[in-house]
Amino acid sequence: MVISYLGLGSNIGERSVLLGQAIALIGQKIGPVVRFSDIVESEPYGFVSNNMFLNMVVAVETELAPEALLDATQEIERMLGRVEKTVDGKYSDRTIDIDILLYGDTEYSSSRLTIPHPHIRERRFVLEPLKQINPEYGRQLS
Ligand code: ADP
Ligand code: MG
Repeated sequence: MVISYLGLGSNIGERSVLLGQAIALIGQKIGPVVRFSDIVESEPYGFVSNNMFLNMVVAVETELAPEALLDATQEIERMLGRVEKTVDGKYSDRTIDIDILLYGDTEYSSSRLTIPHPHIRERRFVLEPLKQINPEYGRQLS
């Protein structure tokens, strides 16, 4: 069993409902959600949109290996109506985005998956909620 930290974001639709649905599906398909951060509201990052994001981080206990975990998070994104994928680094509005931030202490890299997530440190809407529920990670950075 590994504790993984997942970053959730939504900027279209009933954003807080979508976050709740994502957490329920994470509980069903990935494992028990053992901690969750406060929700923060943030400007779209890397693209222009009038739609603000709601972001949060959850900790989940899982038996899934990294690639299987990504399959599960992407299935949940599809179930909650996400259609647009980021192409060539161009971001877009999304009903739900689920990023794998940390997977225990594991470092992992493949063509479709990099863990720890490469953009944790530069995105405050990820870093602050992550530090809130994982103080150890906050100490490592300071
Ligand atoms: P972003 O999350 O950067 O806004 P997407 O959700 O569209 O963009 O993700 C683009 C791709 O990033 C995914 O198809 C996935 O293969 C890849 N990826 C690489 N590392 C990770 C990770 N740690 N968590 C989630 N996706 C990842
Ligand atoms: Mg993503």
